[in-house]
Amino acid sequence: MPGVKQSLLRHEGRRRHPELDSEATESPNESREDERRAGLFIGTGSLLTLSGRLLADSSLLSLLERRSARRKGTTLRLAELELLGRDTGGVALREGALLLKRQLPLSLAGIEVDGISVAGQETCILLPRHKLVFDTGRCPQRAVYQKTVMVTHAHLDHIGGLPFLVSTRGMLGLPPPTVVLPTAIVDGTHDMLRAITALDGNPMACELLPLSPGGEYRHLPGFVVRPFATFHPVPSQGYLLYNSKQKLKPELAGLPGDTIRDRRLAGEEVTRMVEAPEVAFTGDTSAEFILHPGNEDVLRARLLIMELTFLDDEVTVEHARSFGHMHIDEFVEHAERFQNEAILLIHFSARYTAARIVELLDERLPPALRAKCTPLLAGFSDRST
Ligand SMILES: [Zn+2]
Ligand SMILES: [Zn+2]
Repeated sequence: MPGVKQSLLRHEGRRRHPELDSEATESPNESREDERRAGLFIGTGSLLTLSGRLLADSSLLSLLERRSARRKGTTLRLAELELLGRDTGGVALREGALLLKRQLPLSLAGIEVDGISVAGQETCILLPRHKLVFDTGRCPQRAVYQKTVMVTHAHLDHIGGLPFLVSTRGMLGLPPPTVVLPTAIVDGTHDMLRAITALDGNPMACELLPLSPGGEYRHLPGFVVRPFATFHPVPSQGYLLYNSKQKLKPELAGLPGDTIRDRRLAGEEVTRMVEAPEVAFTGDTSAEFILHPGNEDVLRARLLIMELTFLDDEVTVEHARSFGHMHIDEFVEHAERFQNEAILLIHFSARYTAARIVELLDERLPPALRAKCTPLLAGFSDRST
């Protein structure tokens, strides 16, 4: 997307993207045509036209939220622009058949998230502050800089970029990554990396760490990751990142500091470990994970990153289940179970456009649930169906 966006960010008078010219013939409105020719300078002069119509760069969000923009010193009303989902962490604007997305990096429930996820193509979600990657997708370059990788399952759209990530870190002189993965796929992953080493000639230095539900991985100080059960046609698991802190025992609260210190020095345990589920990542799964015993904290995590592959009736619930994927009807059915502060929806089928995804979520999710959901739209086409 950044490359595409760059190519669209042109000042008027320069050659435009061929798609824009063909669309421009569909905008007979003369004033629009005038605007297109004259160029519409917003704020510091950034300019973006699509199909001869004005949209604006995300740095101009505040202007867009007031639905006005500066045009050569005058104010141009952008009232006809439809603002799609202010809650996307960025801006998604649609005008006619066009959509501009500028989302990343997102900040949801105070947690920074980056990445891309299109079903069957690539899924790689980064938590830069937590120095963590969930699945490698095709390994976007920014994923290379995270030392810890958590792989949910071995479908190529989730693990295909792993050799690239491992190899690139080696070439950059970065420490070998730690790759946490389901126990059932460790041998196969090892064989894959060994085969690529033989073909590529470069060593694939990494630590493969098998982990299954019931086990845990001590991540950064104060964080622990535990896998949870997911349901997919191949061995799979999600990951739940807990914030884990020592806190004073409640019965000691209010006592003077000296007293607490004396009791601690006398050998008494004055603190206890308190854990809070912070981020849950499902990878691919059918809705079965929602009710699975032991998965309660997934629905309580501050941020849930959840796949929602199918959004309409073109694919039935039964069909979605047979593929091991979520259907929106099942999400709605269990709406009240999701106590998460924010939910990032990922892994939509490539059959949808970005605009259609937003429309379907708006139409089908109950308002209270919709309010805390953000669709990850990176990688989806801008055109409406
Ligand atoms: Zn997938
Ligand atoms: Zn899969």
